[in-house]
Parts: sequence; structure tokens; C-alpha cells
Amino acid sequence: MMRKLSFEEVQKHNKENDLWIVIDSKVFDLSKFVDLHPGGPNVLYAEGVAGRDATEAFFGLHRHEVLLRPQYSRLQIGVIDGEVEHIKAPEPGSLSKVPYAEPSWLSEGFFNPYYSDNHRTFQKAIRKFFEEVIRPEAIRCEESGKKISQEVVDKMSDLEVIAMRLGPGKHLQGRKLMNGIVKPEEFDYFHELILNTEMSRFGTRGFVDGMLNGAVIGLPPIWNYGSSELQAKVIPEVLSGKKYLALAITEAFAGSDVILDGDYWVVTGTKKWITNGTFADYFTTGCKTDKGLTVILIERGEGVSTKPIKTAYSSTAGTAYVVFDKVRVPVGNTLGEVGNGLSVILSNFNHERWMVTGCSVGAQRVIVEECLKWANQRIVFGKPLASQAVIRNKLGKMIMRIEACQNWLETVTYQMNNMSYHEMSSRLAGQIGLLKQFVSRCGRETAEDATQIFGGRALTVTGMGKHVENYHRTSGYDAILAGAEDVLGDLGVRQAMKKMPKNALL
Ligand SMILES: Cc1cc2nc3c(=O)[nH]c(=O)nc-3n(C[C@H](O)[C@H](O)[C@H](O)COP(=O)(O)OP(=O)(O)OC[C@H]3O[C@@H](n4cnc5c(N)ncnc54)[C@H](O)[C@@H]3O)c2cc1C
Repeated sequence: MMRKLSFEEVQKHNKENDLWIVIDSKVFDLSKFVDLHPGGPNVLYAEGVAGRDATEAFFGLHRHEVLLRPQYSRLQIGVIDGEVEHIKAPEPGSLSKVPYAEPSWLSEGFFNPYYSDNHRTFQKAIRKFFEEVIRPEAIRCEESGKKISQEVVDKMSDLEVIAMRLGPGKHLQGRKLMNGIVKPEEFDYFHELILNTEMSRFGTRGFVDGMLNGAVIGLPPIWNYGSSELQAKVIPEVLSGKKYLALAITEAFAGSDVILDGDYWVVTGTKKWITNGTFADYFTTGCKTDKGLTVILIERGEGVSTKPIKTAYSSTAGTAYVVFDKVRVPVGNTLGEVGNGLSVILSNFNHERWMVTGCSVGAQRVIVEECLKWANQRIVFGKPLASQAVIRNKLGKMIMRIEACQNWLETVTYQMNNMSYHEMSSRLAGQIGLLKQFVSRCGRETAEDATQIFGGRALTVTGMGKHVENYHRTSGYDAILAGAEDVLGDLGVRQAMKKMPKNALL
């Protein structure tokens, strides 16, 4: 039970060696902490802070999470009698009440045609699991650059998160998804969209890719084109998180040439920017054979070496330069027909690009929430930032962009739920390309506006603007990975032109 104190009592403690302050009705004794304050002692002795209610000054400089850290929370000695705490840490899994911080289907009093009660139950469980288990890991790994821990991978695999990230399909059969919340045959692309948006909410873009994205993009060619023996071995290993997999298509310069030697391919070459490559056990690899491009599953072993590539985001993504030096691979590891590699690679792209778009929308929405909160709480020359028309204009544009992105993404997702794989390839490839370009452009514009709204804090890796800093530094990834946005926009228009009726003349 905390001591109940009056403001009069607090005011007496306003000097060196005897310094109390109030933040949101909580009384803190900072007498011993004052010299350890990262911002120096003087700001704590300032008028309006020492012995006073310093709530406004505190939230002008710190995120609420700072108060919850044990080294600071233990400085609390009491509460102001008769006052109530207004700012509470959100319950894990809860929804934000900030307007536009959640998509309309999760906003109180709004409606949406696409989501069922099962999607809502699933979203709640996923957000809780991600906030409790994934967020601390994401923050740790983003900072340290280390790969996701086996312990967290095991927890993900217990709930079948790895399998669900690969979308609906027969690989889910017989699995207990999120402790049975959703039946494998009922799992659809909206469930997967929920996973993609929720995993992107922590301002940790490197970790989003580090959370086994290599498997998400590298495993489908195995179940679509691999032999039954290969599938029986590799799919359970990867979905259980016991082995890691990467998709190795992009070439540094020399490509990956292959010659046949009896029952073995002998692969020599390099691959560049391979996500999860630093820790992958398998590489779904595009190789040049004398009959043309062929996709081969290469296991890490003799002749395979990887080294990290330093990029603008955290090395927890495991971005690697991969070298194959006369690697002997059984011919049985060929995925699809020899020379038919382009179809194998292209068939994979729609899902990957749609997945990147979902992650991008999840991250973008958090930035909108950050900016709305900051514009409301930041006081400049006595007025909140939001009282400036130029700031409101930026917020308005951010809201328009995120709502447009979300709505188009949901429309495309609904099509995916109702189309066969073949229909998706022929009807949606162009639209997903355009959608991805639109979402990544919107993301970059929002990153720019958010940086202006947060000012200097947007350039600081920790503290108030940390999400904006990470987003501004990494939003370009969504514009390049899985196909550069110009190329995808062009693909969309080329596909539309192909489908123009011959008699469509003005
Ligand atoms: C961090 C990171 C992770 C990655 N992970 C993987 C991975 O796991 N596996 C993998 O195989 N690859 C991976 N990549 C590679 C990625 O897919 C490519 O970088 C991307 O597809 C763009 O290709 P490029 O870099 O060769 O650009 P280029 O092909 O050199 O294009 C450069 C620019 O030129 C323009 N351009 C190119 N062609 C056209 C065109 N036809 N029309 C109009 N404009 C055009 C575009 O603006 C484009 O951005 C990764 C890359 C990065 C940076």
C-alpha cells in the first residue's frame, strides 16, 4: 500500500539531497537519483519540477514505458491523496482508443464486411502473444543484431505461428493453430494478414525479417515443386523451427552455375542480400544450368559459406552474402523441372509481395498513432503541436494514406480468399504489384511527415521518437524487397494493358 501524500508535503522537498516530484499522481523521491539523471541534475531542480507536479515536463521528454522500468518505478514513495492515475500501461492484447490507431474493423462503433468473430478472437490472442513474447525479443534483437532465440522460435512453433505465416493450405492440416482458436480448414488470408500487421507494430523492421521471413518466402517452392521425400524431410523441420531456410535468388555478379555430375549437381557461385542467410540451414536457390534457370534446394554443408552484410536495418535479419564453392547437391533436391526455374520463382512472388504489404501497413499505422499522440502531447511555446494547421495537415494526409492502403489491401485479400492459386496468379499479380508500390510510397511519405512532426527526436534511436527513427530509416525496405516499387508499378500497368479489350477505343 503506497503512502498517501498531499501536494503541500511534496512542495517541501524541492532542494539538493531532498527532491520529490509528482508524475501523474505518483510521488517519486529523486534525491539519490538526481546525479544519475541522463539529462543532468539541473532540469530536475528547475522551477515547476522540483517539489511540483512535473507530469507535463516528463511527458514532453519521455515515453510512459520509462516510468515502468524497475530502476525508476522503485523510486516511487507514494501517491497524491485524492488524485487518480490517468496514464496506465495498456493491458497486453488490448486495442488502442486513439482514432485511426486501429483499422476500422477493430475500432469501436465501426463496421467491416471482411472479418468474422473468429478473426477478432484470433487477433486478440495474437496481439497478446506478440506483445508478451515477441516484443521483448524484437527489441532485444533489433538492438543487439542477434538472431531470434531458439526459445522464442519454439514458442512460436508451439502455437504454429511459423506454419500460419505461410498462409492457408494443406501444410496446416492436423495442426492446432493458436491453441485451437482457428481450425486449419478455416484459416484464411485475413488470419494471415492479422499476423503480418501485428508482427510489425514494434518499430523493429530488422526483426520483422529476422522472424523467419526466409522460410515464408523460401518454403513454398518446396511444397509446390519438391519431391515427396524432400517435402517429408524439410517441411516438418522448418515449420517446427528446428531448421532455418532462406530464399537465395539475387546474384552478386557471377550467378550460381551448375554442372551435373552423376546423381549430383555441383554448384559454384554467389548470392547477395539473402534474408536469414547468416543462420539458414537450407537455401532455395536459383541456379543456371545448361538447360536454363533451375531452382535447387541446397543444404548448408561443405562448400557453403555465409557472411553478414551490414545494412541500414538490424543484422537480426541475418542478411547474408552466400558463397557456393563446388557444393554437391543431390539431383533429387531440384524444385520443378530443369530449366523451368523462372516459373518456380514467379509463382512465389504474389504471396511474398502481399505479405510485405501487410507488414508495411502494420508498421505505418503505428507511426500514425505515434504522431497523433505526440502532436497532442508536445507543447511548443505554450501550445500543443496539433494547434498548428501545418501539423494537422500532415496528420490528415497520414490518415488518408493509411486508410487507403488498408482498404485496398483488404479488398485484395478478399479476392485471394475467393480465388484459386491459378486465378490469383493471372488476375492479381499486376494489382498486387501496384498495391505494393502504393503502400511503400505512402509509407515513405508518412515517414517524412512523421520525421518533421517529431523534429530532433525523430533522429534519435532511443527515446520519444524511436519508432519514427526506425521507420524513417527502414521504410525504404518495403519499396525494394520482393521487387522494386517502380518495377512492380510497371508490371501492374503492363498486365492491365495486356487485358485491354481490342475494341476499347475512345
Ligand atoms: C535487405 C535486403 C534483403 C533481401 N533479401 C533477399 C532474399 O532473401 N532473397 C533474394 O533472393 N533477394 C533478396 N534481396 C534482393 C532484393 O530482392 C533486390 O534488391 C530487389 O529485388 C531489387 O533488385 P536490385 O537490388 O538488383 O535492383 P536493380 O535491379 O539493380 O534495380 C535498381 C533500380 O532500378 C529500377 N529498375 C530496375 N529495373 C527496372 C525496370 N524494369 N523498370 C523500371 N525501373 C527499373 C528500380 O527503381 C530499381 O529500384 C534483398 C535485398 C535487400 C537489400
